[in-house]
Amino acid sequence: MVLTPEHERHATHDVTNQPPPLAPYDASEDTALLEGLRREGAGWAEEGIRRLGLRAGSVQAQEWAELANRHEPELRTHDRYGNRVDEVDFHPSWHHLMRVAVGEGLAGAPWADDRPGAHVARTAGGLVWGQTDAGHGCPTSMTYAAIPALRRQPELAKVYEPLLTGRAYDPELRVPAEKRGLLAGMGMTEKQGGSDVRTNTTAATPTAEPGVYTLRGHKWFTSAPMCDLFLVLAQAPDGLSCFLVPRVLPDGSRNTFRIQRLKDKLGNRSNASSEPEFDGTVAWLVGPEGQGVKTIIEMVNCTRLDCVMMSATLMRRTLVEAGHHVRHRSAFGARLVDQPLMRNVLGDLALESEAATTLALRLAGAADRAVRGNADEAAFRRIATAVGKYWVTKRGPAFTAEALECLGGNGYVEESGMPRHYREAPLLSIWEGSGNVNALDVLRALRRESRSAQALFAELASAQGADARLDAAVTRLKGRMAQTSEAGARRLVELMALTLQASLLVRHAPPAVADAFCASRLGGDWGHAFGTLPDAADLDAVLARALPDGG
Ligand SMILES: Cc1cc2nc3c(=O)[nH]c(=O)nc-3n(C[C@H](O)[C@H](O)[C@H](O)COP(=O)(O)OP(=O)(O)OC[C@H]3O[C@@H](n4cnc5c(N)ncnc54)[C@H](O)[C@@H]3O)c2cc1C
Repeated sequence: MVLTPEHERHATHDVTNQPPPLAPYDASEDTALLEGLRREGAGWAEEGIRRLGLRAGSVQAQEWAELANRHEPELRTHDRYGNRVDEVDFHPSWHHLMRVAVGEGLAGAPWADDRPGAHVARTAGGLVWGQTDAGHGCPTSMTYAAIPALRRQPELAKVYEPLLTGRAYDPELRVPAEKRGLLAGMGMTEKQGGSDVRTNTTAATPTAEPGVYTLRGHKWFTSAPMCDLFLVLAQAPDGLSCFLVPRVLPDGSRNTFRIQRLKDKLGNRSNASSEPEFDGTVAWLVGPEGQGVKTIIEMVNCTRLDCVMMSATLMRRTLVEAGHHVRHRSAFGARLVDQPLMRNVLGDLALESEAATTLALRLAGAADRAVRGNADEAAFRRIATAVGKYWVTKRGPAFTAEALECLGGNGYVEESGMPRHYREAPLLSIWEGSGNVNALDVLRALRRESRSAQALFAELASAQGADARLDAAVTRLKGRMAQTSEAGARRLVELMALTLQASLLVRHAPPAVADAFCASRLGGDWGHAFGTLPDAADLDAVLARALPDGG
């Protein structure tokens, strides 16, 4: 259109000093991530991770994420004739996201992959693809995590594992064994108790067929109710037990899985979380009767690793967004990225993000080696996963709030995507064991599994002598181990997490990163908010590593 003087008179403003859109960007352009991938034994996956990173940052994938959250899943309880259907309808964008996630091996695939590092590769894949949308990470995570629990009942695993570990996304509701690929969810939480699952009242009654029961009761939270299979806790005659519940029975009839409502949630809005009821619901026993917690804890160990991974993903995603904004925005005569106090904020966030990513990959490496029979790594994983779940997810909400603020008012507006990331962050410290529950689980490991504590201190010892503040913190930690009171559990676990993160950075990150982390997090040279690193921190080096284009 040609502007006439008339138009010019009515033009109110030009748009200046606003950043260009971030997409497309490369979600795998993260030095700490790629170094961790190689270090933890999955260097072979780098090409695939880089490809996935470009896809995650593409305009199309970012649009899918936005649409899947804007058009939330809808529950259809009945058809037009009054028959129960219990279906959840999703926007096509959700299915696009799921198809990529399953196809790229982010669901059960590592369990069918003999290559050392397969679980690390999956975690790294989650760290990049999760930068689209966190919601669909829920069913992929539960599908991944269901396998070790399902293996407690080999004849069930034989039928379903190949379909849970495959790379085909097949969302249609059909007989599970006849589908191209399956998804699994879990039902533990009831109205009267979530952390304390011993209070579950859902009853399991044995039928004449060995191993087959019927369930009667309810669950208060069961996410991703469109999954094919669920691991569900219920009270059998010998106590709380784990069961496999299909939504469609082998003869093609529908199992009773009445979805009463979907939750209206703070965040995680692309994903559906439901309240199902069971009544004569057919279920197969998984693991021995009375050992439900012991069986399903195999699943929870894996989903806790994913909580660390997803928090680290949100950190990285929002850091990249913050870095992009401040590079393109000026205030008071200079680009924000060049302003010393903004550099301190970004640098502090960058340290936190690298520490979270490095820990997530270390935990994935431990899981990978534990699965392959390494007992020391299994002992380390036992305690370190609970420590990481407590701390990294606890840091998520404060981190995303600070990153959001880097965008000023734009960050508070939905279009920026930052509110969505911010709303997601608290969930990761609630599900799979809330903060206190994880901190108390660390105490349990210390009391009952001395090998776990030994494995943690062996890990810390490998960085001994490299940094005086770290050495002092490890000594402090050893001193506190004798006083494992419940009331002091958070303090103890926080110190464990910080020493563990510091030891990883001291061994593997550039000196500027390790030094600033140790000075602030262990040396006490730090304030209570982000952006309070000491003057001596080498912010240029920290930012050049974390945000080569944005710092
Ligand atoms: C979006 C969403 C999706 C979910 N999806 C699923 C799902 O798919 N399947 C499923 O089974 N569950 C699911 N949950 C439930 C979730 O796992 C539980 O909400 C969580 O485990 C906490 O249980 P609760 O809500 O019963 O809280 P409570 O157990 O009542 O805990 C409340 C608070 O008390 C604290 N607390 C508990 N015990 C102690 C103690 N001994 N000492 C000190 N403090 C303590 C907790 O840390 C928490 O802060 C989901 C939850 C959400 C929000």
